[in-house]
Amino acid sequence: MSIFHTDRIPSLSRLPKELGREERPCGRCGGHTEHIFYRVPKKVMLLYVKDHPENLHATCVVCARSTILTGEERGRVLAAKRGE
Ligand SMILES: [Zn+2]
Repeated sequence: MSIFHTDRIPSLSRLPKELGREERPCGRCGGHTEHIFYRVPKKVMLLYVKDHPENLHATCVVCARSTILTGEERGRVLAAKRGE
C-alpha cells in the first residue's frame, strides 16, 4: 500500500492530445502554415499532470516546430475546445 494518494493517469494519456488545427505564423518557416494544437502532459514528482501553464503546444505541420501557447492564445484554444 502506498502512503501517497495519487490520481494516477493511465499511461495512454501521456500521449499528447490533439485539440485542433489552425493556420498561424511559424517562426521557422516564416509564413502561415497549418499548426496542430496539442495538450501535453508534464511529469511532476513521478506523475503526469495534464493541467499546467505550459501544456498547450502548437506544432507546425511543415517543419514540426513546436511553440508553447500562453496567455490569450492559450485561453482561446482551450475555450474553443470546451465549446464543442
Ligand atoms: Zn513551420
